[in-house]
Amino acid sequence: MRCPSCGADDTRVVDSRPADAGAAIRRRRHCETCGNRFTTYERRESVPMVRKRDGRLEPFSADKVRAGVANALADREVADGAIDSLVGDIEAFVESEGEVGTEEIGRRVLEALRTLDEVAYLRFASVYKEFEGARDFEREMAALEDPS
Ligand SMILES: [Zn+2]
Repeated sequence: MRCPSCGADDTRVVDSRPADAGAAIRRRRHCETCGNRFTTYERRESVPMVRKRDGRLEPFSADKVRAGVANALADREVADGAIDSLVGDIEAFVESEGEVGTEEIGRRVLEALRTLDEVAYLRFASVYKEFEGARDFEREMAALEDPS
């Protein structure tokens, strides 16, 4: 760790202790070159989390969302950058919330696909909503034709 005062690389830790009730480690460092002392904090990197249906948490993966969206849009014609834009919106939402349920992410993807491409919307809905059978599919088709 470089000394903020003189820029020397040669600093050493003279004290380490828990901070923020154990969520961080506070370190006092001493610069061997100029004698400056300064403090650093070590924290877990903040990663937005997704709460799954069974209650488990896992780190949010934009790649997973992208794969699901790309799958739904396979062989459909969409504007360049439409997938990037959709995934970017979802990512920004999850980052702003910090923790989001899979249902909420799926609902937002569905909303976005609905305006982007109706076939992709139905494909994604059939996977995401775990349709039990043709009746669900027909209900979604009806909802598409008559959005209320
Ligand atoms: Zn220094």
